[in-house]
Amino acid sequence: MTPQLHLHVLASGSKGNAAVVEGPEGSVLVDCGISRRALMQRAAELGVDMGRVAAVLLTHDHSDHVKGLSVFCTHFDGGLFATAGTVGARKYLTELPFTLVEHSDAFEVAGMRVQAFPTFHDVPDSMGFRFETADDALGYCTDTGHLGPEAMGALTGVRILALESNHDERMLANGP
Ligand SMILES: [Zn+2]
Repeated sequence: MTPQLHLHVLASGSKGNAAVVEGPEGSVLVDCGISRRALMQRAAELGVDMGRVAAVLLTHDHSDHVKGLSVFCTHFDGGLFATAGTVGARKYLTELPFTLVEHSDAFEVAGMRVQAFPTFHDVPDSMGFRFETADDALGYCTDTGHLGPEAMGALTGVRILALESNHDERMLANGP
């Protein structure tokens, strides 16, 4: 594999999540759980050109993944992708021009093939992603209690793998 994809994690954790996946023809913002101001500031610090962002993908509707999106979209006219379950969970998301995808769909964004896969979280219709170009692949998977066969398949062989999770033994023992 030759490095065609780059990952920049701009925020991670319960206070907010956002990452930029850079591809050869443009970038994708995955989740927008921090303010636009913080997002732009962190991107600038890392030398990430937010002008290349061609689309926003949402993993799920928890506020630490979406709360910055409305304001971000006042300065953004690229594509927005999420599942119906995610968009339907919050009224302000239903008012944005989303392209609805299924949590197991494959689609093209910014010259990258995106393979979505279901994750297992306490919200409906959450998902993770595999980003792929002819010669590189990157996996992005957060907020999941376990990795199902779709995730295992999609994350196999990636050059970069982003995994993020809390670990709570009581929830693991008693939750779904
Ligand atoms: Zn969550």
